[in-house]
Amino acid sequence: MATKYIIVTGGVLSGLGKGIAAASMGHLLSSRLKIVPVKCDGYLNVDPGTMNPYEHGEVFVLDDGGEVDMDFGHYERFLGVNCMSHWNLTMGKVFDMVRQKERRGDYLGKTVQYIPHVTDVIKGHLAEVAATESADLVIVEIGGTVGDIENELFLEAMRQLKEDVGRNNIIYVHLTYVPIPSGVNEQKSKPTQQSVNLLKQRGIFPDVIIGRCSEFLTRDIKSKISSFCDVDPEAVITGLDVDDIYEIPLIFESEGLSEILHKKLNIYSPPDLRKWKELIDNIKKPEKEITVAICGKYTKLFDSYASIIESFHHCSAHLKCRINLEWIETTDLTSMDFLDRVNGIVIPGGFGSRGTEGKIEVIRMARERNIPFLGLCLGLQLAVIEFGRNVCGLADANSTEMNDKTPHPVIDILPEQRTVTNKGGTMRLGGYTAVLREGSIVHSLYGKAEVSERHRHRYEVNPEYHNPISEKGMVFSGTSKDGRLVEFIELPNHKFFVATQAHPELKSRMEAPAPLFYGFVRACLK
Ligand code: GLN
Repeated sequence: MATKYIIVTGGVLSGLGKGIAAASMGHLLSSRLKIVPVKCDGYLNVDPGTMNPYEHGEVFVLDDGGEVDMDFGHYERFLGVNCMSHWNLTMGKVFDMVRQKERRGDYLGKTVQYIPHVTDVIKGHLAEVAATESADLVIVEIGGTVGDIENELFLEAMRQLKEDVGRNNIIYVHLTYVPIPSGVNEQKSKPTQQSVNLLKQRGIFPDVIIGRCSEFLTRDIKSKISSFCDVDPEAVITGLDVDDIYEIPLIFESEGLSEILHKKLNIYSPPDLRKWKELIDNIKKPEKEITVAICGKYTKLFDSYASIIESFHHCSAHLKCRINLEWIETTDLTSMDFLDRVNGIVIPGGFGSRGTEGKIEVIRMARERNIPFLGLCLGLQLAVIEFGRNVCGLADANSTEMNDKTPHPVIDILPEQRTVTNKGGTMRLGGYTAVLREGSIVHSLYGKAEVSERHRHRYEVNPEYHNPISEKGMVFSGTSKDGRLVEFIELPNHKFFVATQAHPELKSRMEAPAPLFYGFVRACLK
């Protein structure tokens, strides 16, 4: 079978949930097809790794060490795939490739132009991804909104693609907005018509229109959109506002989307949504309730902790438990009163020294008061610092990230790490294997002796302090194969005190919650 393509564009407004719509569509088709999601972003950064979380949300790290847009989190969670960094194509990467070709002399001294040279590079990249992955279906999400200058070249390339891959192998799905103005109380199609017109001006004629709306689209509005925009009436689909994004595949299916996609692409891959639906129903009917404090720095920016929020959501579904997250800003922590309200504490990842002393104090409380604690990356480092200072008597122990003059650098950059020049930095990025100690909490939670989780950090537990710290009772329950890098720590004789140098939240899935989160929530419930 030739590779099929679904091109997803958006109109009217940004933020309508194009990534979730694309991932949900993929979910419906994933039973029999190998699906590869590709996201095209118009910005000129080569990757979002160094972009400010205020602007960009969480940096999502892939197994291969790629730092990509957080939309890839949705793809992984909805499609059950592990994505690769070159499935994220930014205009910065495209221009980089074009420039390299030009320098190599590939263009034989010709004028290098947007069309065909830039669009060829975009299409060539897609073809390469499809071929190396032996993809049955490639879902291409074009970032931004039609009419933006930034995505014009991607749109033009997608228009051309129809001729290259054959018209029976590609469809265009356009996500728009159907408002119901207050006072008028009627679904309005004009923004959709105008946005489809913008798309048509670029030579793209949508096959399916998804109208984001606060209600199901009426038969009337569907037929109006159908006639003004030249799509089949059954190909106008409601993109309903929902509280829980995991409901979107169910909504799409109730609107008949998979059948339309099957018909238009001549494929057959019927969805089985029973398990998914059962899990979503569990979330809606919780039998228990807990509150967890997330103590961090950007706590007003929920997007920078998106995967942590997701991980708890997955636990909710499996443990039939409502999990309230209480966001604690540790920069100006004046009171510890919140500890009386919460069942557990999470210290998430972070960079720089701001807020760290507050976090260390919170960890001390968690340890002394036997409150379940989960540390993620920086959370592990601070737990080691706290233990070093207050249990091992290492005065002013610290990470050299916070204080490079500390007498006890229990957390430090290792010499071997200094030479890594990953993307200009010295980060340990991507999936790394850890060996788990038999009989430990983490071993029993993962149910195996070797696990791979994703990393994004520079500093490590300093091997010179392994002995003094473990002698006092902190267990290094998971390490790199050579034992040099500490990947998991835990305290025995505590309700739950576990931390990892990795970011297990990045691999949590609705069908398979991250084991550490699962274990933590279970401990909070006790
Ligand atoms: N700042 C720490 C480091 O670079 C932790 C990073 C993180 O939490 N992702 O090692």
